[in-house]
Parts: sequence; structure tokens; C-alpha cells
Amino acid sequence: MSDSNPKDMKTATALVRAGREKSITGQFVNPPVVHASTVLFDSVDNMMHRRERYAYGRRGTPTSDALAGAMNEIEGSAGTVLCPSGLSAVSTALLSCLSAGDHLLMVDCVYGPARNFAKHILKRLGIETTFFPPDIGADIGSLFTERTRAVYLEAPGSLTFEMQDVPAIAAAARARGAATIFDNTWATPVFFKALAAGVDITLMAATKYVSGHSDVMLGTVSANEAYWPKLIDTHGTMGLCVGPDDIYLGLRGLRTMAIRLERQMKSGLTVANWLAARPEVTRVLHPALESDPGHALWKRDMSGASGLFGVLFGGWDQKDAALFIDTLKLFGIGASWGGFESLAILANPGHTREAVPWTEEGTLVRLHIGLEDPSDLLADLEAGFAAVTAARP
Ligand SMILES: *Cc1c(COP(=O)(O)O)cnc(C)c1O
Repeated sequence: MSDSNPKDMKTATALVRAGREKSITGQFVNPPVVHASTVLFDSVDNMMHRRERYAYGRRGTPTSDALAGAMNEIEGSAGTVLCPSGLSAVSTALLSCLSAGDHLLMVDCVYGPARNFAKHILKRLGIETTFFPPDIGADIGSLFTERTRAVYLEAPGSLTFEMQDVPAIAAAARARGAATIFDNTWATPVFFKALAAGVDITLMAATKYVSGHSDVMLGTVSANEAYWPKLIDTHGTMGLCVGPDDIYLGLRGLRTMAIRLERQMKSGLTVANWLAARPEVTRVLHPALESDPGHALWKRDMSGASGLFGVLFGGWDQKDAALFIDTLKLFGIGASWGGFESLAILANPGHTREAVPWTEEGTLVRLHIGLEDPSDLLADLEAGFAAVTAARP
């Protein structure tokens, strides 16, 4: 869509250039923030025959085209729709390829609200969901029924960070005429090209690393040629659209996403390795660590890691972990991630799993590593450990 973007450019370069269509931005580097509902036509004839690029604010503006166009270049997709949140991207992707009576296969380590959408709304529409173990690989073949129309993946998984064999699962789905949907919020297209791995529809909570500043709710869904017509039709029919200021912030964040991710990966690994060596820590759940069960798949399929991972404290109960988190000064306590600041939350995957029960001893904490100097973060964590030790009888 945009001018002069050679196909083989690196992602960091594409992030700078993508979506900067001259017919939209003119002489300016950035697109205008177009606040619009009504679009005016020169004549009845022009309106009847839709002779203008834009027809109504809900159906697209120069601002939304700039971000959607940029996403297409980075994902290698046929089209991208923008949704008012990441969860809206999840539901839009699912509804674009499922109908009453259909069957969905969903990975068991999926983002909680995505599971909830399947178990409540999709169920109400007569769509059944089977949850499967993340390490199923090509064995997923045995779970398909006549009515299976979609397979939903998220790697690494929410809270527990299990990798999945995306190419093998996507190939099995394609052979049976089912769509593969992938939630790429963690790796982003900077580190994982989902469509190139065989996925049909890839989505992100752009709330996270795309915006990168904890000030926007936004989702993107990008599809290949085969699934784009259904996706744009579903999105348009449901009346979804995003305010131009939030789209603009998403696009602004996108420009620096690669460099933020690079730094957050590096600092994240520094902290993860430091934690892995602590006696209180039984396991760090991070696929870029060699000790992680998903490491081989991560290394084969992804070119980097973000700054989000889990830490399992084997001998700690929830009270110990809460004291640890409460003591931290540089880690905020709050939902979401992908911003410039470090965060820590208590995670409890125990009560949601259906295909494989979560049986690990101890307490799980999820950390998001921001753009702070990692040595300050280590000192902060050290103080957290000291507080837990001091509270012991
Ligand atoms: C946060 C998140 C979402 C939902 O994004 P929101 O913008 O908060 O609605 C979806 N998938 C994953 C993996 C997430 O972490």
C-alpha cells in the first residue's frame, strides 16, 4: 500500500516506513488524525456509485488506513482490521470463521478472557470448543471432527508460557479445511511471522507492545487472502471501529516497537537468568531460556522474546509472594503489559486448565520487564527477597 517498500526489507526498517502512503500523509511524516462520521460526496451519482475512497467514518479513514496498511506490510497480510481492544480482536477473529454447529479447537494455555468468550458466547451460539494440550503438535489431527472449522493458538501461552508447534498444527488444520488463528501479542511480528508459519488469521492486543505506553486499548486482526473477505465482512457488519486518537497512538508506538522489544528482551533475560539462579525459584517460565521445555520450538520459530515471563517460587505460598510483590518499588501491580514500565502480578493458572491440570507446587508470579536499567530492577527484586526472608519465623 505505501510507497517504495522493497519486499525484503528487515522488520525494523519496515516498522519505520510501513503505512506511510503519500496520498494520505502528503508532505508530512505522519498521517492526519481524522475525526469523522459523515463523509461528503460531490453528487448523488458519486455517492450511489461509491466513487470516493471513503464513504463513512466507521468504515475507514486515512488514520485507520495508515495503521491497517502498516500492519499488512509487517504481517505480510492481505488485510487488517482494527478493533477497540485486544479481546475484541480475539472475538472478531473467532466470529469471522465460525457459525452455529461448528467446532473449535483451542489451546489450553489460552488467554483467560479468550477461553471465556469460547465457553460463554460461542457456546450460546451453538459452537462447541475442545481445549487441547499445548504440546500436542501434529497429533492434533485426532481431535478434528466433521465440524471443526478453526484452531486457536497462542504461543507462548498466557501466564504459563508454553510454546506450540505452530507450523505442524497449522498444516494439520489446513489439510482439513479449518482456519488457524494465532494470538501474536507476546512475540509480535517483530519476532514471529505468523502467516509465514501457516497461520490464516493473526491477531494482537495492540494495547500491549504496539502502543507500548500503557495508554491505549487497541486490537489488530490480520488475515491472508483466503480469510480476509470473511474478516472484513464480520468486522464491518458488527460495527467495530476505533477512535482516531487511539489509532494514532498505536501507529506512533509501532514506529519504536522493534527497539523497545530488543531492549525489553535483553533486560528480561538478564532478570530471568538472575532469578533462575536464586534458591527460592524452582523454575523460570520463559521459552528463550535453554532450560525451558519450549526452548527448541521457540528457537526454531521465533527470532526473539518479549519482556514477559513467569517465575515459580516452589516453597512460597500466596502470602509470601504477595509480600515479595508489595515490597517492590519499581514494579507496578496491575493488569496488562507491553508498556515502558515493569509490572508484577500473582498468577494462578490452577483453576482454569481443562486439558492438562496445572500441578506445579508453589506460587507463580508474572513479571513484565520495562525500560528501566536492569541493575535497578535486580536491586529491587533483591529487596523483595530480603523482605520475605525477614518475615520468616
Ligand atoms: C491482554 C491480552 C489480550 C487482550 O487485550 P486487551 O487489549 O486487554 O483487550 C489478548 N491476548 C493476549 C495474549 C493478551 O495478553
